[in-house]
Amino acid sequence: MQKFSAIEYHRPDLAQIHALIDQTAQILRTAPDAEHALAAFTDYRTQSAAFETMYSVAHIRSTMDTTDPFYEAEMNFFHENLPALSVREKTVTQAVLTSPFRDAFAQHFGTPWLRRLESAQRLADEAIIPEQIEQAKLEQAYAKTVAGCSVSFRGETCNFYALLRHMQNPDRSIRRAAFTAWSELYRSVSDTLDEQYSALVQLRCRMAQKLGYPSYIEMAYEMHGRYDYSPANIAAFRDEVRRVITPVCTELFEQQRRRLHVDRLHWYDEALVFPQGNPVPRGTVAQLLDAAQKMYRALSVQTGEFFDFMKQYELFDLPSRPGKHMGGYCSYLPSLNAPFIFSNFNGTSADVDVLTHEAGHAFASFTAAKFVPLSDLIWSTNEINEIHSMTMELFTYPWMDLFFGEQAEQYCYAHLCQCLCVIPYLCCVDEFQHKVFENPAMTPAQRRAAWRQSEQSLMPWRDYEGSDFLQSGGFWMQKQHIFLYPFYYIDYALAQLCAFSLFDAYQTDRQAAWQRYLALCRAGGTMGYFQTLQSAGLTPLFQPGAIEAAVIPIARQLLRANL
Ligand code: ZN
Repeated sequence: MQKFSAIEYHRPDLAQIHALIDQTAQILRTAPDAEHALAAFTDYRTQSAAFETMYSVAHIRSTMDTTDPFYEAEMNFFHENLPALSVREKTVTQAVLTSPFRDAFAQHFGTPWLRRLESAQRLADEAIIPEQIEQAKLEQAYAKTVAGCSVSFRGETCNFYALLRHMQNPDRSIRRAAFTAWSELYRSVSDTLDEQYSALVQLRCRMAQKLGYPSYIEMAYEMHGRYDYSPANIAAFRDEVRRVITPVCTELFEQQRRRLHVDRLHWYDEALVFPQGNPVPRGTVAQLLDAAQKMYRALSVQTGEFFDFMKQYELFDLPSRPGKHMGGYCSYLPSLNAPFIFSNFNGTSADVDVLTHEAGHAFASFTAAKFVPLSDLIWSTNEINEIHSMTMELFTYPWMDLFFGEQAEQYCYAHLCQCLCVIPYLCCVDEFQHKVFENPAMTPAQRRAAWRQSEQSLMPWRDYEGSDFLQSGGFWMQKQHIFLYPFYYIDYALAQLCAFSLFDAYQTDRQAAWQRYLALCRAGGTMGYFQTLQSAGLTPLFQPGAIEAAVIPIARQLLRANL
């Protein structure tokens, strides 16, 4: 294998792939025995993995430089052709599902995999191709609107990301000004964002209607592979968060208010955990990577091997640059069994959060690839995948001195607080989206009111002093998942509570907890949600008392610490 920068990209030959699909479907329909059928399908997936690898390379490179016209054109090529390709692929899926050797497929790849194929059958439909293409264009327009936003702040041209650093400034007037500049940026494009979101909502509803779902909510649940629970379970989960977690967060923010010596904790104070400033990682990107390598070698044999591989093939793009896509993510190159980590380091502790979080995803995929029989089974559904990443953030606490020196304890406290206090917000984003798709005709003003209502009940501590825009419910606009990844957010809340359970166990028996984590990573996507949880000794959160059991040890630990 080569370093990432040396991987040669070439546009996949669509005609060749279409021929491969037709040929595979034909072989599957006429296979004389299970062995032939399985071999044909495995061969097909190996060849299509090469296509997916080229897609991932183009996607990663287009995000590394959003102004690069070559990869922008390549991404347009994929966006225009993928919907038709997935419809064509239905002939292969159909041949598997109706195969006389279906049982052999189930035995080999698991029944959850077959269930996913059935979903893919329902979701890929010629009828919605125009909407899918339109959706991709609108999503790109949204990303451009947000990427184009910048403001001059204290003599520096700042985008949303660059402002984050100032938003934690120990000087209250500076962080207030940074938060105000940040919200002003969103307000200045809010009409455009409202229009883009309304169009996306209408499009998504139209797709659901064409496919025969009662609403987009049911379609989204199927897209996310949520087979083991329903919107009603999730609504009950949010109510439990309101009942159990919201009061703990309110108490933690009250402790923070006293620590900061302020009369009221305004929204621009929430990010500053310690009056003298939040801990920041020391060193250059290269030094942080060296520290991470040392840490992963110490954590376990498996993580050491994994991180050495990532470094050897330079499977990272970490520093922030003009023109780079916002945020952080982990991608995967199936043909090479190689993950890739993307981030926008900005000199705050979030750099370490992203590094450990995305490394959790990367490690899980790197590990699963060795155990699952098919590259489709490397990832599970998101409520499981996010356990991999969020648990890794917590399991690396013992080595935080490598990044933060004597501020390590403060970092871990602030990080754990944030893990807990963000849960009501995650539920807010989820509740908002349910409301939007229950009432897709809502006006922008009604949507803001709906957001504010959820926010006030889940996050009663939130005080938007001085910002009419946010006071009236404008805060939802800053969440890119709402625009780009509908209904992907509650997954983080479900996963965080499972990560808490594993972390609680880790604090008493590191080895045993590590083995449970490893079992979860190895399972990949081979099992259903509840079954995967079970494989790591985790209780589904919809059982009575499960949320309390997961959260109370952590809440106690934090309230007692009050650093
Ligand atoms: Zn993640």
